[in-house]
Amino acid sequence: MVSREIRLVSRPSGWPTPDNFELVEVELSPPGEGRILVRNLFVSVDPYMRGRMNEGKSSYIAPFKVGEPLDGDALGEVVESHAPGLAPGDIVTHRYGWRDHAVLDAEQARRVEEIPGVPLTAYLGALGMTGLTAYVGLLDIAHFEEGEAVFVSGAAGAVGSMAGQIARLKGASRVVGSAGSREKVTHLVRDLGFDAAFDYHDGKIHEQLAKAAPGGIDVYFDNIGGEHLEAAIEELRTYGRVAMCGSISTYNATAPVPGPSNIGLTVGKRLTLRGFIVFDHRDRMPGLITEVGAWLREGKITLTETVVDGLENAPQAFIDMLRGANVGKMLVRLVH
Ligand code: NDP
Repeated sequence: MVSREIRLVSRPSGWPTPDNFELVEVELSPPGEGRILVRNLFVSVDPYMRGRMNEGKSSYIAPFKVGEPLDGDALGEVVESHAPGLAPGDIVTHRYGWRDHAVLDAEQARRVEEIPGVPLTAYLGALGMTGLTAYVGLLDIAHFEEGEAVFVSGAAGAVGSMAGQIARLKGASRVVGSAGSREKVTHLVRDLGFDAAFDYHDGKIHEQLAKAAPGGIDVYFDNIGGEHLEAAIEELRTYGRVAMCGSISTYNATAPVPGPSNIGLTVGKRLTLRGFIVFDHRDRMPGLITEVGAWLREGKITLTETVVDGLENAPQAFIDMLRGANVGKMLVRLVH
């Protein structure tokens, strides 16, 4: 059968452009023993993919190869199965995104169970790697505890919106978020239950954070790096912790980016800054599904998605996500 896939045709220098990608038709071989054919319904575009577009080791996963299809998380429907345990009609997540159809080993797919009232796309967001990143980063890496004050940057994005809501539901004394527009700031407070939020374009981040969290913060969930990290170090209390999740402010930089000028404060304040990669924490998936799944079912977590239609628009959706066009999880819908 004929499928379509997005390939990387050149490595971006600085910001990616649509010319770095091409849409190609390919002939797929039928699935053999132990394999399945999946029709993708939604594919995910994520910031870490930018690092994989560079040559060498700028990401924690191997770089994409020029001339080959991109990959990433996808949600699809099994069309044909030659494996026990999976049947046509089953909905699965897997890693062969950026294409209409995929033939893969059944072991590479995870069947998802529908939770009443929760869209299946949650398995690419709140109940997938995105939610797991927020869950593990806040609870296992930053060791957040009830009664603590939390600051989340990139708070209106996929991971940030989950980190902030989990902190609220786990009894944070104050949850503060930063985001890139007035609309996003309103969304954080009105829809997601943040106690305070600010637009990082509106002035010095450090000053805005000090105003939003007058007593300081205990935990910083860092999605952005750069000036955000510097501001958080300034406002963290003694024994504060930082989950070093990402530094998207640097992903398209063409020259080395300086580190926080106040890094010396980490000593006197006894701070812990700890990096982590979600793929090392798959064992926490059942905890996420149980706990966050229950919150979703009970309507305690607001799920936000930005959906772009059409595989041909996936590269632009990816670029737009890097520029902040998304609220919540950025997804590309392949089938209506
Ligand atoms: P988001 O949904 O948050 O989308 C990216 C957002 O980043 C944009 O919407 C934009 O929002 C913001 N942004 C872009 N450039 C800047 C900038 N210069 N300064 C401030 N904000 C900026 O993506 P994810 O939730 O998927 O990812 C969030 C972070 O988590 C990323 O750093 C990513 O790499 C990291 N991550 C880490 C994982 C791990 O295992 N450690 C796993 C998954 C993600 P705005 O409009 O607010 O600017």
